[in-house]
Amino acid sequence: MFTLPPELEAFQTRIRTFAREKIAPQAAQIDRTAEYPKAIHHLLAGEGFMRMVSNPEPGPTRFLARAILIEEVAYASAAVSMIPMVNELGCTPVQLFGTQDQKAHVLEGVANGTMFASYGLTEPQAGSDVAALQCRAEKAGEDWIINGEKSWICNVRQPGVCVVFARTGVQGARDALTAFLVPTDARGFEITGAEPTLGLRGSPTFNFQLNGVRVSSAQILGRPGDGFRVAMMTLNHTRPAVAAQALGIARAAYDAARHHACTRKTFGQLLIEHQAVGFMLADMHMRIRAARHLVYEANLLLGEKTGGDPVASSTAKCFASDTAMQVAVDAVQIFGGDGYSTNHPVERFFRDAKVTQIYEGTNQIQRMVIARRLATAEPG
Ligand SMILES: Cc1cc2nc3c(=O)[nH]c(=O)nc-3n(C[C@H](O)[C@H](O)[C@H](O)COP(=O)(O)OP(=O)(O)OC[C@H]3O[C@@H](n4cnc5c(N)ncnc54)[C@H](O)[C@@H]3O)c2cc1C
Repeated sequence: MFTLPPELEAFQTRIRTFAREKIAPQAAQIDRTAEYPKAIHHLLAGEGFMRMVSNPEPGPTRFLARAILIEEVAYASAAVSMIPMVNELGCTPVQLFGTQDQKAHVLEGVANGTMFASYGLTEPQAGSDVAALQCRAEKAGEDWIINGEKSWICNVRQPGVCVVFARTGVQGARDALTAFLVPTDARGFEITGAEPTLGLRGSPTFNFQLNGVRVSSAQILGRPGDGFRVAMMTLNHTRPAVAAQALGIARAAYDAARHHACTRKTFGQLLIEHQAVGFMLADMHMRIRAARHLVYEANLLLGEKTGGDPVASSTAKCFASDTAMQVAVDAVQIFGGDGYSTNHPVERFFRDAKVTQIYEGTNQIQRMVIARRLATAEPG
C-alpha cells in the first residue's frame, strides 16, 4: 500500500470530506443540467483549494497534494474536477514562464476565484499535431495582432485569461510558435459555439475566434518562439493531474460496482461470489492499485525536478486513463441493466472516463512519447 506522509494523509481526509459533503450530492444534477457549478467554484476558492493549483507553496510534495485534491474531487464529480484542472492548465505556463507581473495578476486571480485561466492550444485542424496550428500573430510596432480559430477550449467563457498559442514563424521550425496571455474579454475575442459533449457535462467547452486581437509584447509568456516549449513543458506538468482525475473516476466506479456485487443476489448467491464477477472485481482492484502508484510517482517526480520525468508523466496518464475506462466499462456490466440506467451513477463514470484517454494528448500520443524515449534509454 502506498503510504502518504502524515500531512498529506490529513489533507486527503480534509478534501475527501469536503468533496463528499459539498460536491458528491450535486454531481448527478450537474451532469443532468450541464450547468457550470459556479457556487462550487467559489467554495473551492474559499477553502484555499484553487491556490493549490495556481500558486502553491513550493515544496517537494506540492504536486502530490494537487493530485490528491483532483483525485478526490473527481471521485465525487469529474466535471467539478475540471475547475482546478483547467485552471492549472492555464496557470502552469504562467508559473513556468511568466514575469512577476504576469504571475501577480493571473495566479492570484485564480487563487481567489475571481479569474479563470484557460489553455488555447487545439484548433479545428490541429489537435495531436500541435505544430500544424494555423492561428497567427503578426508584429505591429510594439504590439502583436492575433487572428485564428481555437476549438475545444474548456471554460474559456468564464472571465479571465486564455493562454493562446499562435504561429509567429515558419511552419516546421522549432521556434515557430509563441504563447500569449489573452484576456477573454479582449476586443475581437469571440466565442463561436459550445461543444455538446458525451461526458463532463457541467464543464463547458467552447470554440472561439480571434479576429485581430491586439496584445502587447508584455503579454508574451517566455520569449517569441518559445511557444512549443511552453506547450510541451505545461503538458508534462499537467498530464499527471489528468492521471489523478482518471484514478478518482476509476475508484468511484469500482466502489459502486463492489458495493452492488456485495448486495445483489442471483441464483441464491451474492454477485461477488460468482467467480466470473469476483475475478472482474479483482482485476479492477489490481489495475487501480497499480495506477495509484504510477500517479503518485509521476507527481512526486514533478516535485523533485521542473518538468518531472516525461516518461513517468505519460505512463501515469496513459495507464490511469486506460484503467478508468476499463473499470467503468466493467462497472456498467456488473450493474447489469441498472448500469445502463441514468438512475445510477455508473453510466456517468463511463462517459466521464472516456475523455481522460483523449485530452492533454491522446493515449496514442502518450505511447509515442514513451516509445521515442525508450529508443535511447538504458536497458531496464
Ligand atoms: C472535453 C475536451 C476538453 C478539451 N479541452 C481542451 C482545452 O482546454 N484546451 C485545448 O487546447 N484542447 C482541449 N481539448 C482538445 C484535445 O486536447 C484534443 O482533442 C486532443 O489532443 C486530440 O486532438 P484531435 O481531437 O484533433 O484528434 P486528432 O489529432 O485528429 O486525432 C484523431 C485520432 O487519431 C490518433 N492519431 C493522431 N495522430 C496520430 C499518430 N501520429 N499516431 C497514432 N495515432 C494518431 C489520435 O490518437 C486520435 O485517436 C479538449 C478535448 C476534449 C474532448
